[in-house]
Formats: sequence, structure tokens, C-alpha cells
Amino acid sequence: MRHLLLILGDQLDRNSALFDGYDPQKDLLWMAENDHEITYVPSHKQRIVLFLSAMRHFRKELSDAGRTVQYHQLYADKRKDSGKSFGELLAQTIKKEKPKAIRVVLPGDYRVKELLEKTAAKHNVPIDILPDVHFYCTVNQFHKFAQGRKSLLMETSYRQMRREHDVLMRDGKPVGGTWNYDHDNRESFSKEGPGDLGRPTSFSHDDITKEVIKLVKERFADHPGEVDSFNLPVTPGQARRMLSDFVQYHLRDFGKYEDAMWTDEPFLHHSRLSTSMNLKLLDPRECVAAAVEAYREGAAPLASVEGFVRQILGWREFIRGVYWTQMPQYAEMNHFDHQAELPSFFWDGQTDMQCIRQSLSHILKYGYAHHIQRLMVLGNFALTTGVHPYKFHQWHMAMYLDAVDWVSLPNTLGMSQHGDGDIVGTKPYCSTGNYVDKMSNFCQGCAYNHKKAVGAEACPITTFYWDFLDRHFDQLQTSSRMKLQMKHVERKRNSGEIAEIRHHAEQLRSDWKLA
Ligand code: FAD
Repeated sequence: MRHLLLILGDQLDRNSALFDGYDPQKDLLWMAENDHEITYVPSHKQRIVLFLSAMRHFRKELSDAGRTVQYHQLYADKRKDSGKSFGELLAQTIKKEKPKAIRVVLPGDYRVKELLEKTAAKHNVPIDILPDVHFYCTVNQFHKFAQGRKSLLMETSYRQMRREHDVLMRDGKPVGGTWNYDHDNRESFSKEGPGDLGRPTSFSHDDITKEVIKLVKERFADHPGEVDSFNLPVTPGQARRMLSDFVQYHLRDFGKYEDAMWTDEPFLHHSRLSTSMNLKLLDPRECVAAAVEAYREGAAPLASVEGFVRQILGWREFIRGVYWTQMPQYAEMNHFDHQAELPSFFWDGQTDMQCIRQSLSHILKYGYAHHIQRLMVLGNFALTTGVHPYKFHQWHMAMYLDAVDWVSLPNTLGMSQHGDGDIVGTKPYCSTGNYVDKMSNFCQGCAYNHKKAVGAEACPITTFYWDFLDRHFDQLQTSSRMKLQMKHVERKRNSGEIAEIRHHAEQLRSDWKLA
């Protein structure tokens, strides 16, 4: 055999570089479902359904097109499995098929890349790691961008990408005269709430998905999350329908309400496209082009369209660049030396803090929470209580359907927990309960009072915020972006309030076994 071509679970890209020069007579396509990937963190049931169903749909598509795929699958009854790990299965295929080389697109996880390289080296087979053409920016291009820069600002890379790919540009200048519409994109809903959001795009479960759901119910029954509410694309056709519905019904309001939250409304005007893009069912260029087209046709305002483009062409590409330029040492970073465990309610949602309970209920039901719930509710709580940043990332990998190492790690350890110091963000994202109150209706009817930091009614978000700033006073007061907040801490120190806050925070920490 000439080439053994590996298709990993998040590389279901019909336009992949893997197929360049592919010859069905000489090359073998290889896919493997992997028990270790599902259990090394206790994956949400729907996360397992998503990956296995999308992989099996891709296998079917390839087989229907007459391509032979060697596919190793998991069964509901574990005894029917080969019982071999991913590396062992690969080694077995290498020994049997004796390929001249292995080819694989750059995996989405440094650990998997290392495993493949080690397995190939052990069996003396060369391995070609191909660039992932799904992304706008190659790893080398990002390396060049990063070289010699003191800090890696997303905004700088985003502007460069806009110019390079001619997105929302006119005569070398940003359309509308400015790069950034953030000031238009921070609104909360009025007291009446978001109004009629329509029904989320839905996808019926075909035989493949039904079989996988059955497998998950039987084999992974003790994993977190619900399974029957699974409702995400598992084919490129479904992913395009999701994109088209988003552009038609939600893009207009996406920007304005991007940061808003509301009780029992997990999706609001967000696109839910991250899983489709991360599994490579959907090309980010299609998403960007569809949004820009909507602006040209007058169907969506520039602020919304720019906001959406910024997320994909800006944040998504930047985050991936950070991952590949900073790994492997990035995973070890822990700027604040935080060591606490996540409280147990992160796994079952059983807490009387309404904002946390709401966010966790969305995650348990759909494996989804939008970016502000991730950053300013759950991430904020983990950061201010001092959770170990890598443990927060591991929880994230288990619970979110769109989590793949390259995108989860810089977002969790970096952006959310500030574990990387100033690489992804120039200051920690944290706030008191006042922010939650401003951006949602969660505080209404909550057991706690977001304005209070001490006492029986005190909002733990508010207590831990001040406690966190006080504990890391020396580190934080050197940041020019934290000056104002640190002045408040000084005032609270002088008035003696901080001592009470510290005491209350300690009590909560011990109640929740955080230490
Ligand atoms: P929308 O709000 O509709 O945004 C559109 C698209 O922009 C998303 O689908 C996504 O592809 C992209 N995007 C937006 N922000 C980011 C970002 N910061 N990094 C990368 N892509 C971005 N995104 C993931 O895909 N996987 C993760 O594991 C992940 N972990 C996160 C953890 C934390 C703590 C935070 C704060 C953010 C994380 N994000 C992650 C980014 C973002 O929250 C999700 O992409 C988004 O919520 C997915 O929902 P959506 O598709 O409805 O996104």
C-alpha cells in the first residue's frame, strides 16, 4: 500500500488536503472510534452522539462514493469492541497493510499529534502532517505574525486577516469606516425579554443517529448530560441549513444582543455553528460569505455582520494560532497559581445561584452555553474561586459539544482563567453580580442579592470577585487596565470590608469543598 490516510473525528472535511492525489487503488482511508477520547474526560452524552454520528455519516458518504474505508467502531456491548486503544489499532493496521507513508491533517489536539508521530516512528513509517485547509490562516502564517511581538492582540491579527482575505473592505479601508462595532453590540433585553425567537432549527434523528443514541444510552449511561434533546447537524447539508436559518432569522439581532442572557433561552440570536465548523462539516468562509452577503442585500446591519465576522475570522483563527504557537508549555500555565477543584454542582447543576444554575442547565440539556455564560458566569466563577485552569479546561472538554483541545484550551485556560498571563487577554475577565444583573434577568428571584458581598443574602459572584482582587492585589495592581478596580479594593481594605469579604469567601469555599 502507498498511503494510509487517517481521518480523525474532527476532520470530516470533504475538501481536506488528505484527498489531494488520493488513489483508491493504492491508498487506504482509515477511521477509528475511540473509547479513550470519550472517557479520558467524562464526555457529555450528546458530545459522544455528535462525534460518532458525524463520523458514521462521513463513512457512509465515502462508501457510497465507492471509496473503501477501514472503519473501527464501538459497540453498545463493550465486549464486541476490539478492546484496542487508538494507538494499538493504528499499529495493527500499519503491521498488516505496510503503508509506505501515513498521511494525516494536523490534528486538533497536540496530544493526538504526538501519539501519531510516536506510533509512526515506532513502526518506522514516515508520517506527513498536512496543513488543515479548513482554516484561513496556516500555523506557519500565524507563527510569522507572532514572531517578535510582545503581545498577541486579536485585534491586530483580525485586521490583518480582513485585509488579506478582503472581507468587509473597500479601497483598503474597513467598510463603514471603522473596524470595530463593539459599542453597538453590548445591549441587554428590556424587561419584556427577547420576544419571539422562533423555533431553533431542528434535525430529525435518522437511523445512524438513532443507533448511536442507543449505543450511548447503553454504554455511557453514567456520563453527564441528557441525550434525547440532541439537535445538531451531523452532515454538511444539515450544517448549511443551520447557517441559512441563522442568517435569515438571527443575524440581524446577533450583534446587538451578543452578550445578553435570558432565563430558559440558551441560544437567543447565536448561530450554534461552532460544532459544525469544528468538525469541519462547514467551511468558515461559507459562514463569513453568507453574513457579508446579507449585509450587501440590506438584510442585516453592519454592526451585526462585523460582529459575526469578527468571531470567526478574528477570534476563531487567533485562538487556533495561539494554541499552535504556544503548545505544549501552554497547557501548564497557571498565572495565579490557582489549585482549587471545581465544585460538584458544575456536573449536575444543583445550586441555588440562579445564573450558574441556568447556565449549567443549558449545558446539561444541550452541551451548549453561549460565550457570555461561558466567560462571565461560569468562567468568572471558576476564576474568582481559584479553580485550577487546566481542570476548568478538562471540565469544558467534557461538557461542551464544540470543545476540541485547540479551541477549548486557549479560551478556558487563557481567555477565561487568565492562566496564560497576558497572551490571550490583557486583563482577567471578571465582575461582580452587577454585570450578570445588567445583562440578564437571572438575578430576579435569585436567592442572593447581587449588590451584597457579605451577609446571608450576599451574592457569591460578588463576594468572590472582591476576594479574588484582594488575594491577587500585588499582581493585579500593576495592570493599567485594572487600576480603577484596584482603587476600590484599596478603599474596601481601608474600611475593613475586605476582612469580612475574605471571611465569607472562606466559609463558602469550605461549604463547597473548593480548596
Ligand atoms: P456564535 O456566538 O454564534 O459565534 C459564531 C462563531 O464564532 C462560533 O460558532 C465560533 O465558531 C466562533 N467563535 C466565537 N468566539 C470564539 C472564540 N473565542 N474562539 C473560537 N471561536 C469563536 N468555542 C468553541 O468552538 N469550542 C470551545 O471549546 C470553546 N470554548 C470556550 C470556552 C470559553 C471559556 C469561552 C469564553 C469561549 C469558548 N468558545 C469555544 C468560544 C465561543 O464561546 C463559542 O464558539 C460559541 O459560544 C459557540 O456558539 P455559537 O456557535 O452559537 O457561536
